[in-house]
Amino acid sequence: MTEDRDESMPLPPPAHIGDLETMPRCKRCNLAYMPTKSSSALRLTYCSFLCELGDLGFSMAGLEHMERAKKDDEAESEAEPTPVAAE
Ligand SMILES: [Zn+2]
Repeated sequence: MTEDRDESMPLPPPAHIGDLETMPRCKRCNLAYMPTKSSSALRLTYCSFLCELGDLGFSMAGLEHMERAKKDDEAESEAEPTPVAAE
């Protein structure tokens, strides 16, 4: 009887185990979280942008935005080629 039960014991699907293993822990609050649900720009390091802010003192998203604004300026001049036939 018990032997029969042992055999029918449900094994956890491998996908589920993999899921748990890939769940990182927040560097700041040590909480296991889903990186895809993290609001932090550093999804694999912090569970949310609040932890990112608290740990770094600034948000990567903000920095990224600043850099992007700069790059946007460059890209714009490239996308709109001014006819410089003189040189
Ligand atoms: Zn956290």
